[in-house]
Amino acid sequence: MSILIRGATVITMDAAATIHAPGAVLVEGTRIAAVGPLDEVASDAPSGCEVIEGTGRVVLPGFVSAHNHLGYTAFRGRAEDVGHSPTHRLYLPMSMVMHRDERQALGALAIAELLRGGVTTVLEMEEDADVLAPFIERSGIRAGIGLMTHDVDLERLMNGDTVFDAALRRRQIDASVEFARTWHGAAGGRISALITTNGLSTSSPDLLKALRSAADRLGLRLSIHLASGEMHLVQRIHGQESFAFARANGFLGEDVVAVHCYRIDEAGVDALAETGTHLAHCPLMNQFRGGIAPVGAMRERGVNVGLGIDNYFSDYFDVIRSCIAVARIRANDPEVMQAPEALALATTGAARAMGLDDDIGSIEPGKQADLQIIDTRRFGLTPLTDPIRTLVYHAHAKDVETVLVDGRVLVRDGTPVALDEEELVDAAARAGAAAWARFVERFGGYHA
Ligand SMILES: [Zn+2]
Repeated sequence: MSILIRGATVITMDAAATIHAPGAVLVEGTRIAAVGPLDEVASDAPSGCEVIEGTGRVVLPGFVSAHNHLGYTAFRGRAEDVGHSPTHRLYLPMSMVMHRDERQALGALAIAELLRGGVTTVLEMEEDADVLAPFIERSGIRAGIGLMTHDVDLERLMNGDTVFDAALRRRQIDASVEFARTWHGAAGGRISALITTNGLSTSSPDLLKALRSAADRLGLRLSIHLASGEMHLVQRIHGQESFAFARANGFLGEDVVAVHCYRIDEAGVDALAETGTHLAHCPLMNQFRGGIAPVGAMRERGVNVGLGIDNYFSDYFDVIRSCIAVARIRANDPEVMQAPEALALATTGAARAMGLDDDIGSIEPGKQADLQIIDTRRFGLTPLTDPIRTLVYHAHAKDVETVLVDGRVLVRDGTPVALDEEELVDAAARAGAAAWARFVERFGGYHA
């Protein structure tokens, strides 16, 4: 099956920052066969191929989110104002009462929303992520997925005690490995598995070491939340500074995606740089927590940075704008983090963090055909004098018209082709209400 996207402005995000206007993209099977000026590419298109009209539209690589918890859509409107780290107050308690089918319904809604908004790849880590994998497979989105482990006794954690549980640790390691064996390489390679853990304050050294050795044995990447406000807890529980502790237990390295890192000093930046650890930078979420990673200094040191959505949100354009705004506030400089640089973090940077940069992140021949097409002939996006800047500063998820993953059209005319929006919204609303009712009954309120 071939598809020709004809006459669009094509922002390739290749190393030379090439833009073709008017340009065209030829997709053959799951991959990009050609990209370039309209005349050149159109003449190579096989007769009878599907034509997607690109006039008045911009083609971008699909967005890559290097950090997500899809089922945490449950916390939309509930966790944004609760302070520094809702992990202990909301996320972990909720994991004790939320049913698996509820997480599935909430996660399915998030997947549909992300696809609808041009996000074609996510790095998903979550408790019970196995319940989301079948829907991820069916939806057509590309994903790296990890069971988000911990080995802390949650009942005692509710009383403020951190006690690690060896039996729980064994179960979590086994489940994580079993999940990875089942799903790594599934859906024709569209799904990959990671080994993940929530964070240093909920992981014993034994858990971290076992996860590192499982990842090495299976050849998988790792991901973990780092330096996002729990630094004092890590020091108290483990008697060591966060980055030194992570490094000593195998959770820094070229195959590690560290998430957040907004409470970080120079030594922490050094640790990321020296070990080749990737940063999943989630500025939209982090700005509401009042902390921002020093991505300028990190990138100067050679740390690869990719953007991530994290939770609740599904408009990736908001994440990119936030990345720019917070970088400028942090640097007190209105010219740092220009729009093309921020867009690169959302595409090539995040793809590299996931180890997928040979296959996705830019529009180049041979790469997977993960594309989004934005209709610019509408309120808010006219005139289109500078395509990158106009989109980065003014576009929204709802402006995305067409989305392809692996050469399959998953969104057409702004509507998911194979997913029923009304059904997904209804199921997620019911799931959210039921889970929160149980949360209130068990913990006596929203702020446990
Ligand atoms: Zn997270």
